[in-house]
Amino acid sequence: MSNLDAHPAEQDCLAKGDPGPVIEFHEARDVPLGGVRGVHVMRTLPQRVLPTVGAWCFLDHFGPQTTPMTVNPHPHIGLQTVTWPFEGEIHHRDSVGSDAVVRPGQLNLMTAGRGIAHSEIGVPGSPVGHGLQLWTALPADQRQITPHFEQHQKLPVYEQPGLRAIVFLGTLDNVTSPATTYSPIVGADLTVNPGAEVTIPLTHYYEHAVLVIDGDLTAVDTPVPAGPLLYLGTGRSELTLSSHGGAHVILLGGEPFREDIVMWWNFVGRTHEEIEEARADWEKRDLDRFPDIAGHTVEERIPAPPLPGIRLKPRGRGR
Ligand code: MN
Repeated sequence: MSNLDAHPAEQDCLAKGDPGPVIEFHEARDVPLGGVRGVHVMRTLPQRVLPTVGAWCFLDHFGPQTTPMTVNPHPHIGLQTVTWPFEGEIHHRDSVGSDAVVRPGQLNLMTAGRGIAHSEIGVPGSPVGHGLQLWTALPADQRQITPHFEQHQKLPVYEQPGLRAIVFLGTLDNVTSPATTYSPIVGADLTVNPGAEVTIPLTHYYEHAVLVIDGDLTAVDTPVPAGPLLYLGTGRSELTLSSHGGAHVILLGGEPFREDIVMWWNFVGRTHEEIEEARADWEKRDLDRFPDIAGHTVEERIPAPPLPGIRLKPRGRGR
């Protein structure tokens, strides 16, 4: 998916310290993505005071919606896009020649590195579109790597009585996703059974967050509604979850991302100039950096919004 916001706010993010175990709710923002169909998403990352959770720097929950997803060609740099559908199928095409349909339970992972363009279109006949689009920030020494795409149709599962967790990225306990990662991270899709109380082992030095997609959940003795992101900080070696009627939950975590990053539109960089250059390369159709995508016309490319009239510069997290 793209950040299609016509006037994206500057999202510059200072590296943050180690908060320790906390319990904070961060409200989702209802973001209209524009376009003729008026699709909108619920965005819980980045937050002004919480730019990242581990390397996770973007979290959009889209749908359930019957309007098909239509995200035409647009560029990315410095990040990975993680497409995780709950319902419906999405057709991905990109500028390194990938052409793949992703289905629920499968992962599309695109590593933008120095630059890639892609499109994501709901497959006709998929009645409902519902899922997540996430980004991870690439560490500075990896952010210029060659762009590539991978799809994982079979992902490992962490299980215990009352819980089934698909590990789509990184490691949960002793279960590791085959998807390529660039920092210590975890992303898992949890099904908590009705009446279950489970305790999941966590990596102590990671920070973690929980997003309830559906159902009722209590986490660390705190009721967690669907919608906001529950941020749990660092320094936890386990997480106890319970549900009366069952719950569908996303668990994200990772080593706190200590680098300053500048996020604007679909780019993650380190400086204003880097973002400005990527925008210019897209706008002038630099085919070395962003080759055309087979199956799309040039007219379908999404134009970059204007840069804000101020320099993109770091903003504090307030910890
Ligand atoms: Mn995208």
